[in-house]
Amino acid sequence: RVAYVNGQYVPHSQACVHIEDRGYQFADGVYEVCEIWNGNIVDERRHLDRLERSLRELSMDAPMGRAALCMIMREVIRRNLVRNGLVYLQVTRGVAKRDHYFPPRDTPPALVITARSTDPRAADKAAEAGCAVITVPENRWERVDIKSIGLLPNVLAKQKAKEQGAKEAWFVDAQGNVTEGGSTNAWIVTKDGTLVTRPAESGILRGITRQVVIELAAREGISFEERPFTVEEAKSAREAFITAASTIVMPVVRIDEAVVANGHPGAISRALREKFHEVSELEAL
Ligand code: PLP
Repeated sequence: RVAYVNGQYVPHSQACVHIEDRGYQFADGVYEVCEIWNGNIVDERRHLDRLERSLRELSMDAPMGRAALCMIMREVIRRNLVRNGLVYLQVTRGVAKRDHYFPPRDTPPALVITARSTDPRAADKAAEAGCAVITVPENRWERVDIKSIGLLPNVLAKQKAKEQGAKEAWFVDAQGNVTEGGSTNAWIVTKDGTLVTRPAESGILRGITRQVVIELAAREGISFEERPFTVEEAKSAREAFITAASTIVMPVVRIDEAVVANGHPGAISRALREKFHEVSELEAL
């Protein structure tokens, strides 16, 4: 495997960043993950729009222009022979003597890009079974709209989920509403067949997959409501699922101890998963 690190393509096993990288010391950086599907980058434009927004919100410079970034992403994907998988891109505020204040303005941001293959058949098989989620109290900062590499609450929540035989942990805010998962957005389908997900105004990352699923639902004539929902409502919902570039649509069949509906993925979740790539933007490699 090959990784891109600050201007060089290097063997993945030897790809390193400096110990004074601000990402390493302060989690002072942002990232993106795009799906690679059948030799296409999925929703690249939207992911790069969000990356630029994350950088802006943290007063961080882009490491280079968008065209150059796209070219390097493609090169990393190509060198790793990925046709189905994920590309990971991380920008930090660069290498500087450890000090909380921003480094001097001429400090170049650090850029790392990696790509790896995934097995689409294994993913489809997992989706046919569905997954379990647990719920945990929301304990993250208010700026979860920024795709920051500071993910300690997400790491702890997802580890707890894993230890309880679940795939994801849903954060629950002080009002009892589900915000989102540790690395996914959260959805339910109500008993009357309405698709529901939390508004992106607060408490969640504005998922790219989430946005595409909203557009797909409109195309399919599925009624949709953007509003908060509680854990109790989710447990008694007709369907539940999670979305992310890494999982697309993954049905949820258990929430804590509660089995969702009959314990099998629902029809709307399955249809949204099947048709997802009909509406996502595909950029050939
Ligand atoms: N929410 C969180 C906290 C995430 O980390 C992610 C993706 O990694 C998502 C939601 C889903 O976002 P996207 O669909 O853009 O991958």
